Amino acid sequence: MWKFNENFSSLRHGIQFILFSMIFLIVIGLGSEKFYGIFGENNYSAIHLMMEILIIVVTMSISIQTWLISPYILSNRVLYIGSLFLTISFIEIAHTLTYKGMPFFITESTPYAATWFYMLGRLLLSIGVLCIYFVKEKEIKLIYRWLIYSLPFVIIISCFGILYAPTPILPPLMIEGEGPNLLKNTLQYTAIALHLVIMVISLKNFKKAPKIIFLLLCSSIYLIMSDYLYTIYKDVYDIKNFTGHIFELGAFYLLFRAIYFSSIERPFKQLVDTQEHLEKSREKMHYMAYHNEITNLPNERFLMESLKRDLYISKSQKAILAIGIERISAIKASLGSTYADQMISLIAHRLKNALPEKHLLCMLREDYFVVYIDEVKSTHQLTHLSQQLQFVMEESFQIQHFSLNSQLNIGIALFPTNSYREEELIRFALYAMHEAQKTSTRIRFYESSISNETTQRLLLENDLHDALANQELFLEYQPQLDLHTGQIKSVEALVRWQHPKKGWISPGVFIPIAEESGLIIPIGQWVLETACKQVKKWEAAGLPPIKVAVNLSLGQLFQQNLVEMILNVLEKTQLEPQYLQLEITESMTINIDHMTTILHKLKALGVTIAVDDFGTGYSSLSYLKDFPIDCLKIDRSFVQKIQSNSTDKALVDMILSMAKHLQLKVVAEGIEEIEQLSYLVESKCDTVQGFLFSKPIPPNILQENYQRLHNDAKYILDSITDSITVSE
Ligand code: C2E
Ligand code: CA
Ligand code: CA
Repeated sequence: MWKFNENFSSLRHGIQFILFSMIFLIVIGLGSEKFYGIFGENNYSAIHLMMEILIIVVTMSISIQTWLISPYILSNRVLYIGSLFLTISFIEIAHTLTYKGMPFFITESTPYAATWFYMLGRLLLSIGVLCIYFVKEKEIKLIYRWLIYSLPFVIIISCFGILYAPTPILPPLMIEGEGPNLLKNTLQYTAIALHLVIMVISLKNFKKAPKIIFLLLCSSIYLIMSDYLYTIYKDVYDIKNFTGHIFELGAFYLLFRAIYFSSIERPFKQLVDTQEHLEKSREKMHYMAYHNEITNLPNERFLMESLKRDLYISKSQKAILAIGIERISAIKASLGSTYADQMISLIAHRLKNALPEKHLLCMLREDYFVVYIDEVKSTHQLTHLSQQLQFVMEESFQIQHFSLNSQLNIGIALFPTNSYREEELIRFALYAMHEAQKTSTRIRFYESSISNETTQRLLLENDLHDALANQELFLEYQPQLDLHTGQIKSVEALVRWQHPKKGWISPGVFIPIAEESGLIIPIGQWVLETACKQVKKWEAAGLPPIKVAVNLSLGQLFQQNLVEMILNVLEKTQLEPQYLQLEITESMTINIDHMTTILHKLKALGVTIAVDDFGTGYSSLSYLKDFPIDCLKIDRSFVQKIQSNSTDKALVDMILSMAKHLQLKVVAEGIEEIEQLSYLVESKCDTVQGFLFSKPIPPNILQENYQRLHNDAKYILDSITDSITVSE
């Protein structure tokens, strides 16, 4: 495409040139009498010859140029132009040779043949260009090139035939000493008229190819100027005739430029542009191959190549920090990857700002970052840096209407202490990162023992993928005893995994893996459906109504269709919603706004909501007034210490009185000893759950032993009531 600047400067130059020519023309016109005969008769033949040679060179160049490019362009128009200019070039040669003052050529040179040759060439130019304008551009076979280029020969021979016929066929065009006659001027004006038509047509197409049209217009103006001058000279030595030749030469030169531009310069520039474009996309591809597209940070390939290059250069100790974003998989699985990606790129931004320039920050495939530090002074320096990185994450991230918090788990591997191989270093740092989440600081240096644990964990994750399909998961139910009635009115559903090789695996082990990998979504749905079905089965078996409590993970709460999913399960299993309780944990209060909306929607379904492990969360209790909660579950850790620790006792008391105040039910978890129970009975706790009454048991056992469980419970409760009465 012709760029604007280029456009403008050419235009300016062109206009300057034309203005200059106009002035030149006026000077010549005014002073023509003075200039008349300035060259002298003898000199003029030579001067004219030089001018004509230049014109011939230019016209010939046009035809040669088009001949040469035609195999690449294969356009009929281009070939016609070439042929036209070859003809004109031949005619100009004839004109030159027959010009007055030239040596003997066929006959004595007279203005008769010379002016006719000129006139024929001139008319041919206008008519030819006009015709070519109307020819439809199309591809042409290369062999036609020869045919088209042989036309000029035919034409010039015919011209010679006509002009050198024994008796002149055509009338003369000029009278010596007087100048051109009427016929000559009529023909000249006809040429001008034709050229004006060409100009009008050109102008119409200006937008399509401004530069080419502009050059064509300039050329036409020059040609018309020369035409005009050729109508007013007195004889061939007149300076007007000479100036006419200059303009004619100028016109041909501009035409040459136009054709050169359209057939060579412009395609060439387009080629250069394409090449540049290609080069750019190649650079872009290279960049993409070495960078992560979400964060624009260098990727794994970049890191590996840098490590291969740099690791062994100096003997200094180096470190790899693997940085994992806590819960990112859950966010991805539940909120979708758009949110997760936004979050990741915000985190990347903060990390980049917090890190010194010299450290290389990369983003690896599975949503974790790696920092390469090429000179480590002390491990303390690394701990400090890690803490700084964690610190910058403290402020929550605002992503659309969610405000999300994130923590970083950081694993560190040292070169050459832990390994001197780049892949292993990264792997070890990742292992340490996985272990880091179990520590309070969330920072962990790699130790050889970690490798084993992590490998196990990764293997488990792999197996967990198939666990659902292979029916390795099942549910157990732990009864909850209503202390007011002594009845089992509810149970908590707890998921179990019977691994085909490794045997029984605790949910404490595989639930976090499921959460991290996003598997919690399908597993959670399966648990819910199975639990609801079970309640209906018990009902069918004749047991009194039992409510089931199902644990929800954070990932599930952010699952987009959670409410719908639960509704579907209720409809499918025909369970009345009041028999379903959902357990959430305090740590889920990271996003109060979102939680409030979701919980209200859940409540609207008719299910009840309990806060699990109450008291262990670090969040403020302010959410209690916003969330539509029905029940608090006092964590096992408090219950366990009831007998020994007076602070915990006070805490349990406080929870109970707060619950009463907020009109919430209270379930105390993990009751193992009779003393714990008696304290809770005394404190008017509503419900208890614990090994003292029953461990989590398979549903058929619960059904079969339903009565016995009640008898046991009654026995225990009675013993307390007795002891309470006795102590009173
Ligand atoms: P949780 O929700 O706090 O579940 C209660 C846990 O305490 C269960 O452990 C239960 O077996 C145990 N427990 C109950 N009574 C006593 C007692 O008297 N003494 C002691 N020492 N422990 C008692 P479990 O089954 O190992 O589950 C561990 C955790 O795994 C659960 O803690 C829950 O957070 C999670 N979990 C279990 N099933 C599911 C599930 O289906 N979905 C989700 N998201 N999480 C689940
Ligand atoms: Ca629970
Ligand atoms: Ca619990």
